[in-house]
Amino acid sequence: MQTQKFDVVIAGAGLAGLTLAMEMAERPFFRHHKILLIDREEKVKNDRTWCFWAKDEEPIPPVIHKTWDNCRFFSHSDEIPMHIAPYRYHMVRGIDFYRHAAERISEHPGIQRLVAPITSIETSTGVVHTAQGSFQGNYVFNSALTSLPLLPPADARFPEPPLSRIAEMPKDPHYTWMLQHFKGWVIETPEPTFDTNTATFMDYRLEQKGETRFMYVLPLSSRRALLEFTVFSNALCPADEYDREIKGYIHNHLDIKEYTVAETEFGVIPMTDFPAKPLIDGRVISIGTVGGFVKPSSGYAFKRTQRKMRAFVDTWEKTGAPDPDLFSSPKSFRMLDSIMLRVLRENLVPGDVLFSQLFRKLDAPHVFRFLDEDATFAETFRLVMAPPTLPFTKAAWRQAGNWIRGYSV
Ligand SMILES: Cc1cc2nc3c(=O)[nH]c(=O)nc-3n(C[C@H](O)[C@H](O)[C@H](O)COP(=O)(O)OP(=O)(O)OC[C@H]3O[C@@H](n4cnc5c(N)ncnc54)[C@H](O)[C@@H]3O)c2cc1C
Repeated sequence: MQTQKFDVVIAGAGLAGLTLAMEMAERPFFRHHKILLIDREEKVKNDRTWCFWAKDEEPIPPVIHKTWDNCRFFSHSDEIPMHIAPYRYHMVRGIDFYRHAAERISEHPGIQRLVAPITSIETSTGVVHTAQGSFQGNYVFNSALTSLPLLPPADARFPEPPLSRIAEMPKDPHYTWMLQHFKGWVIETPEPTFDTNTATFMDYRLEQKGETRFMYVLPLSSRRALLEFTVFSNALCPADEYDREIKGYIHNHLDIKEYTVAETEFGVIPMTDFPAKPLIDGRVISIGTVGGFVKPSSGYAFKRTQRKMRAFVDTWEKTGAPDPDLFSSPKSFRMLDSIMLRVLRENLVPGDVLFSQLFRKLDAPHVFRFLDEDATFAETFRLVMAPPTLPFTKAAWRQAGNWIRGYSV
């Protein structure tokens, strides 16, 4: 079979691949580019929800499912006031985003879509092999295939990767490897129960078991809410533990006696300082989780993906050439992420204490600006001084040893 040629092949049409395709579709510079977007799925199901904070002036996709003006934060012992203005907390449903992207992309005459599992990508030639033929791109943007040991290998084991094995995969010991894993239940109650304007951002009134464990409550209406039991740790919990924790929380903290479970969601997000190097390898540029777009210390990636892609495609349009260096975060933030991950991984400060101290000592917008990598030097310094300094100094010292030996973030 002959290899078809394209200017750009986008391997993986999830958040990163679709965001890139939309950004290209709306710019005249790419009007005559031949672009192929490949995914193993048609993206017709709601497979996840994305939440993120944003100010009203920030450009966000016009597919917001729900917005909360207020958030609550509970440490293990008390409620910490959390005023998030000028930010608001938003939810986007995967399916709404996929449909919106499909519409926008269909306006570009040169973008074709293919549903087929990708089996391999040749970096030097830019040839993408699929079950339905091979396709060559001058540039290939890959968010589908990965060798990251914390991610399910996207290979022949599709559709369901063996999640339990993720934690056992060999990892470079000079970097910190953690998983953020969570199970969500959408519950419905017969009576109005929830305050629809207030999301519970983190609730640490759970047994921590030497890990970072919290509950996340997003009311969708007065009778419907998404509850997510979230853990930062090295390995997944036994399957029934997620359900037990959510059930216990509903009983102990929401005091709800009668409810039904309408939907469930399960997710694993890598939290690592291993440099994903979103740089060109031959003709292949890594994007999305594979390209290190996930904020290592928080697991958030939705808004980062929008911002990184916009800046990248803007520059490409202006200069005529893609510059993958634009995907990298500033080194100072990468180093701080690395230290914070080590503190969490080694439990130098328990996660519940660390996050409670941050939100007790600093206002929420300050923490959000830091996590968005928008904080000034002075704000970053104040944030670094907020948690107990001794364990952070210890972690920074150990990290510095790795950096000196050349294992840089
Ligand atoms: C359940 C869940 C909830 C999340 N919630 C949030 C949140 O609230 N806020 C936030 O900021 N971040 C969140 N994240 C983290 C992050 O935003 C998402 O994981 C995001 O989807 C990552 O974008 P991506 O493009 O890298 O990966 P994806 O969106 O997963 O896209 C990768 C695409 O590659 C395709 N693919 C994979 N293998 C192959 C193959 N062999 N052949 C062809 N196609 C293939 C997949 O079908 C998929 O469409 C969440 C992650 C998960 C898993």
